[in-house]
Amino acid sequence: MRRAVARHSPTTVNRARHIVNLQTDVDLQPYNTLAVPARAEYYAEVTERGQLPELLQFAREKALPLLVLGGGSNVILKGDFPGLVLHIRLTGKTLVDEDRDYYRLKVAAGENWHALVQYTLEQGYWGLENLSLIPGSVGAAPIQNIGAYGVELKDVFERLEAVDVATGELIEFNKDDCAFGYRDSLFKREGRDRYVIVSVTLRLLRQPHLKVTYPSLREALASVPLEALTPRDVGRAVCAIRQSKLPDPMAIPNVGSFFKNPLVGLDQFMELQMHHPGLVSYPVDARHVKLAAGWLIDRAGWKGVQRGPVAVHSEQALVLTNPGRAPGAKVLALAEEIRHSIAAEYNVDLEAEPRVYP
Ligand code: FAD
Ligand code: NAP
Repeated sequence: MRRAVARHSPTTVNRARHIVNLQTDVDLQPYNTLAVPARAEYYAEVTERGQLPELLQFAREKALPLLVLGGGSNVILKGDFPGLVLHIRLTGKTLVDEDRDYYRLKVAAGENWHALVQYTLEQGYWGLENLSLIPGSVGAAPIQNIGAYGVELKDVFERLEAVDVATGELIEFNKDDCAFGYRDSLFKREGRDRYVIVSVTLRLLRQPHLKVTYPSLREALASVPLEALTPRDVGRAVCAIRQSKLPDPMAIPNVGSFFKNPLVGLDQFMELQMHHPGLVSYPVDARHVKLAAGWLIDRAGWKGVQRGPVAVHSEQALVLTNPGRAPGAKVLALAEEIRHSIAAEYNVDLEAEPRVYP
């Protein structure tokens, strides 16, 4: 981790009151894909890095909690947010370096993730194809080390820049600093609420290296001979599969997978397999197995279940939807019912993937 030059100077509360873009009592319903009604006490769109030190200073002086918001596709707003929402809208991408094997692309945190994937595929920078159609921003991608179809952000990650919330300093993190794990990183643990990510640099391949190990992806590509497959084919197939089973948040509000896939020890796995033949599982290491949370929830009878304005998606039981645009508490109540049911049925503890605020 490398600290760059401090970028902020002392600011008075009075001056901060005149911060450009700072608004009060802002409706957050359009800014979260679960379409939960909630309001922000303070809200600012961050379109330039230079706005951050002053906004952070304002939050410190007023002792306001912070919510750094990207596309709002992995947050659940339980109620109004009694603090400052920083909506990251920084844009821009630069090819900072290339060599025999790689392109290094630096991307501002507010860029849309899927638009970036499309851009890289157009340019012939390979490696993001399996991560097509994931909603949200580039700056949020490191938070849970986004992953799909056997590829994770960490596979293409080079470094990121973040502003330290406490000091306003710009800090650079390399891959080891970020401590990426399965849908996990430093920024969900020790680094939680401590940094605003402003850019991410990706290391993309000149020569394709395709990963088509997921059965659904292999099936979708079955008509193309393996040697003729291109990253663009893979990207298109990922988009088609996702469109066929995942609800488009613009039409049916949701936050994608509601629960992480649980990891269990081998003993528990063997016990479960005995009682539940057909259990969907994947080895993780010598001592752990990953269970498909969607399968557990489906088999426990939850697929398509509706509870007033909220529901379990009929095509994918891991996704909870909010067609009635109900408050976050309603969605969380359904999630809690499911969690209890899975604990009772399989003795497995499901952990929510999206973060709950406040
Ligand atoms: P937000 O929801 O705005 O924020 C999420 C968290 O990141 C919050 O804690 C927020 O404070 C923090 N954060 C956001 N931006 C910054 C920043 N610049 N600096 C510091 N902290 C920040 N996820 C996957 O991993 N794989 C998938 O395949 C996938 N598919 C999905 C499909 C659907 C239909 C939906 C709705 C969601 C899916 N997700 C998936 C979850 C989600 O899209 C990702 O986690 C995404 O990275 C969230 O981005 P966002 O900009 O919307 O983050
Ligand atoms: P799927 O292909 O039906 O597979 C079901 C589960 O089995 C997935 O959760 C996946 O784990 C696991 N799996 C399948 N093949 C595997 C393999 N070869 N090796 C290891 N694990 C394997 O899943 P899906 O629901 O349609 O989702 C497809 C991909 O998109 C998955 O990677 C999923 O994580 C991702 N996705 C994520 C979200 C989100 O919000 N986080 C939402 C939608 C889709 P993993 O989940 O660990 O990959």
